[in-house]
Amino acid sequence: QAKTAGKHCYRFYHPSMEQVVERRVRMEKELRTAWERDELTMYYQPVFRMSDRQIVGAEALLRWQHPEYGVVAPSVFIAVAEETGLIEQLGPHVIRKACIDAMRWRAVAPKYTDLFVSVNLSVRQLRDAWLPEQVGEILKSTGMSPEGLHLELTETVVLDDAIDSRGLMRRLRDAGVKLWLDDFGTGFSGLSHLRRLPVDGVKIDRTFVSDILHDADDRALTRAIIGMAQSLGIVVIAEGIEEQGQYELLRETGCDLGQGYLLGKPMDQQSFLKLLR
Ligand code: C2E
Ligand code: MG
Ligand code: MG
Ligand code: MG
Repeated sequence: QAKTAGKHCYRFYHPSMEQVVERRVRMEKELRTAWERDELTMYYQPVFRMSDRQIVGAEALLRWQHPEYGVVAPSVFIAVAEETGLIEQLGPHVIRKACIDAMRWRAVAPKYTDLFVSVNLSVRQLRDAWLPEQVGEILKSTGMSPEGLHLELTETVVLDDAIDSRGLMRRLRDAGVKLWLDDFGTGFSGLSHLRRLPVDGVKIDRTFVSDILHDADDRALTRAIIGMAQSLGIVVIAEGIEEQGQYELLRETGCDLGQGYLLGKPMDQQSFLKLLR
């Protein structure tokens, strides 16, 4: 193709394109040692009980403090970590660190002794059949209670035919860990699918929450998810709450837990401990 394009073939080697590829290759290389170099840090976004606005836990969100690029968003480097398989090494580090940090939150005050930490898992991590054993070992060595560790999975993970996701999910739940379905509503599975999944909670995606006050369809869908979850005995968590009106509507509709910039942004461990105190 480049040949037949003749003199226009330079377009294929446009510098900005090269830069993109170069940057990507570099990122791949640097990500391999980012953990050892202490460039990856965990941020925690508080999760609140809607009824009384008390903090009940936090979601662990990874940040890469790159010496040159600044803070790289997980939407960029998690994809790189997935494609290179690096996530398989990174994943357990993240879970362990989250448990260690959560043990410190729990020591702050008696009302916080049950705080949970939820950790995001990607498809690749679930392909690892040893995950339940790894998680079990982490819980044992950190002293974290299994019910205090929540793992967030997306629909794509759950519906992936290449893995026995149901089997893995069952083994994780047998260990006492809670499973949450993340970004619900954005995938391909219908509402009725929820019934067949071994999950303890469902997170309503931010895109629905953001339009909930103005879009009747999003409101109806949110109501339907909450109704379905309640009848199944599943916890409902809303993500991306930015306005007081959204908070009130979700609380009135029966949403159990919520997180979002209105309530608290992701922050480092020191700031989260300060918030708890
Ligand atoms: P997610 O699990 O759906 O996480 C929620 C994202 O929404 C986070 O973005 C959070 O900072 C952002 N957010 C929270 N509240 C609000 C709000 O009120 N408004 C807006 N506009 N955004 C809000 P973040 O930290 O950039 O993470 C993006 C995604 O990267 C996460 O989506 C998750 O899928 C993935 N991710 C993050 N950390 C990890 C990790 O340790 N492992 C894996 N496998 N994936 C991770
Ligand atoms: Mg999540
Ligand atoms: Mg989410
Ligand atoms: Mg989301």
